[in-house]
Amino acid sequence: MPELPEVETTLRGIAPHIVGRKATHLILRQPRLRWPIPADLPELVVGQTLRGARRRGKYLLLDFARGHLLIHLGMSGSLRIVQADEPPLFHDHVDLLFGKQALRYCDPRRFGCWLWVEGEPEAHKLLTELGPEPLTDAFTAEYLYERSRKRSQAVKQFIMDSHTVVGVGNIYANESLFMAGIKPIRKASALTRKDCERLVCDIKFVLQRSIDQGGTTLRDFVGGDGKPGYFKQQLLVYGRGNQPCMTCKKPLKEVRMNDRTTVYCVVCQK
Ligand SMILES: [Zn+2]
Repeated sequence: MPELPEVETTLRGIAPHIVGRKATHLILRQPRLRWPIPADLPELVVGQTLRGARRRGKYLLLDFARGHLLIHLGMSGSLRIVQADEPPLFHDHVDLLFGKQALRYCDPRRFGCWLWVEGEPEAHKLLTELGPEPLTDAFTAEYLYERSRKRSQAVKQFIMDSHTVVGVGNIYANESLFMAGIKPIRKASALTRKDCERLVCDIKFVLQRSIDQGGTTLRDFVGGDGKPGYFKQQLLVYGRGNQPCMTCKKPLKEVRMNDRTTVYCVVCQK
């Protein structure tokens, strides 16, 4: 599943090719995504110049003069820049053309979305309740500490909740909790200020490192039929259940929490 680093890498991969250019055509081959793509989307978009492209959580926002395209990659979506006349493959559901180049959307499982938003996109119901961006100054230890008071849910669920902070997917939650020495099953309300300092720092670290690694894949966004934006990660605990902890060598414990694989060290994480 594309996580925040993949979405950020996608943004950096596509933006230089499309920002400042005029949308000349929109081809909808399959409008049935998670929500139907509005049938009048071509009329809404075509003819306008793309003023900017940005990310909020795992959503991409393409800013035009009269509105914004709100795109989510869902479970399996990807975007790339292709020559407009390159024949589409089976799961290439949307092409947004900018002259001879196209922004092409592929999504085999069709859980993504392409919506049109007028007015302030931050006020859209999909964005309005999102917590702070993890890599900004709004996400601080003090914020996490205050927010975690009276929360009886497990700390792993707490940090994966997009109301708390956006973009901490399952892999990043496992990794950052290991680095911070915090058991995923501990109650959020039991976090100390010191824990929150470590956790905020480690969440920022694992996400930033992943984005930096993604930077090496930026040229994959142009042409071809590959799956850009997915990259290998150096993982300390995720996918390593029952293997030795890299710190203490005891076998890592693997459990299911909210139907998500959770791996931690019973010795190193308190
Ligand atoms: Zn250990």
